[in-house]
Amino acid sequence: MAQAQFAATTMDDVASERDRYDELKAMLESRRLVLAEELNGRLRGVRDGATERPHDGRDFGEIADTDVQDEIQFTLLEMKAEILGKVNEALARLEDGRYGHCHECGDEIAAPRLRALPFAVRCRDCESERELDAMRTQSAARRAAPLFDART
Ligand SMILES: [Zn+2]
Repeated sequence: MAQAQFAATTMDDVASERDRYDELKAMLESRRLVLAEELNGRLRGVRDGATERPHDGRDFGEIADTDVQDEIQFTLLEMKAEILGKVNEALARLEDGRYGHCHECGDEIAAPRLRALPFAVRCRDCESERELDAMRTQSAARRAAPLFDART
């Protein structure tokens, strides 16, 4: 009886671990796909725009506007490329079994949290602990500030 119970629990654990792996992998893969598509589309768009854009017949204001938009586009592309790199990294870590574990306590970070924040490095408990710590440090600093002013 006890042994059967143990076996069942172990099988459940393995199953839920595989579920988690599948879920996280699907989540990361779909993000990777969306990012890759966006990057491909945008790159094509930027290239087409550059070749088709007629510079004559425009005043400087219009050209400057286009340049600013190009710059924003480029910054967005850079950001997306960076996120894509992080997603690839996360997928590699997932394969190693190192993805989705809290850096503080080593516990698994809940899958819904990872769906919302794929690059979260702390579980919710440790994160809120940390935020509380940061708030305490900040208010302590605020309280300490007048003392410093008085002494200097
Ligand atoms: Zn934790």
